[in-house]
Amino acid sequence: MNFKNLSFTELQEYLKEQNIPVYRGRQIFNWLYQKKAFSWDEMTDLPKELRRRFIDLNVGINSLRLVSRIRDNDGTEKYLFELEDQSKIESVYLPESDRNTVCFSTQVGCGMGCLFCATGRNGIVRNLTVGVIIDQILNISKLTGTQITNIVAMGQGEPLLNYESLMKTLRILNDPKGLGLGARRITISTCGIIPGVLKLAEADLQVNLAISLHAADNQLRDHLMPINKKYPLEKLLEACDHYIAKTNRRVTFEYALIDGINDRKEDLQRLIKLLTGKLCHVNLIPFNPIPDTNFRRSNPKTIAEFAAGLNSAHIETTVRKERGSALTAACGQLQSKG
Ligand code: SAH
Ligand code: SF4
Repeated sequence: MNFKNLSFTELQEYLKEQNIPVYRGRQIFNWLYQKKAFSWDEMTDLPKELRRRFIDLNVGINSLRLVSRIRDNDGTEKYLFELEDQSKIESVYLPESDRNTVCFSTQVGCGMGCLFCATGRNGIVRNLTVGVIIDQILNISKLTGTQITNIVAMGQGEPLLNYESLMKTLRILNDPKGLGLGARRITISTCGIIPGVLKLAEADLQVNLAISLHAADNQLRDHLMPINKKYPLEKLLEACDHYIAKTNRRVTFEYALIDGINDRKEDLQRLIKLLTGKLCHVNLIPFNPIPDTNFRRSNPKTIAEFAAGLNSAHIETTVRKERGSALTAACGQLQSKG
């Protein structure tokens, strides 16, 4: 039993079962989420006997052990955490003047096998539990002494293949009794799991959706992202249209520019054709090098031309600022090697 796996209502139900007054639930939630307590000792307004009872019941309140923390000159930090079963995950802290973002993992490894991504190299081990997802954010908040204002599911794993735990996590973090994090400050990035996108369109929590596109035709996308064979581009874009119609929210398309692979003139033309008229935003990511591939980053001139081409076709486009690559903490580089 770990309290970080429970919503506020579930915590109250558990207390009721144990014949513990339910108002203790509010105190405990407050300690966990507002005051970021990681030990029972800190919870001084809970009676000593009650704290002892939780210890006897083997109730956990932290599911991660910090293995290493490294910091880049720009303030970016990469965290390596160990889970109770000794597997390891990484999370990234990205401070900016107006926000502090945590990029969190949703699985140990990833089973999607995208050619350009280090996370997929060793396959999938398993989904993360609610407590482990939450604790990446709370541990980093505690260790940096900062309030986390934004979170992005862009670490290891495919978030929409861990849908139930992910959404439960986000509801707890969104709960004013939890972290009180606004839905608009939460972003989920997916390689294009269509059933997940459709479920998200109906969800009670309207978070931001980002789609890892990386190619604008099926042949190239099949090659770079094997999941495209199951969920091809036209079907994926149809699901995005449905999501946009349902939620009236803008979708972000991520496109990592790889030299000579997906940054040719015809790629730009296809991308423009694919996205024209959609309520969307394109985020171009300068490709981050990973071991054992011949893939190289597009040159800066090509990246600028791509951005200009999209913008002049009235597709709003930004180029992602490079952060954390010296730590191998940038997009696609997370591999849990510390
Ligand atoms: N599995 C999810 C979320 C994690 S990856 C997804 O694929 O969307 C976060 C972003 O980094 C995704 O857009 C991913 O495609 C991109 N990415 C992966 N490897 C990369 C690399 N080597 N360089 C740049 N971006 C990369
Ligand atoms: Fe998995 Fe995303 Fe990496 Fe693809 S890009 S292997 S889906 S983490």
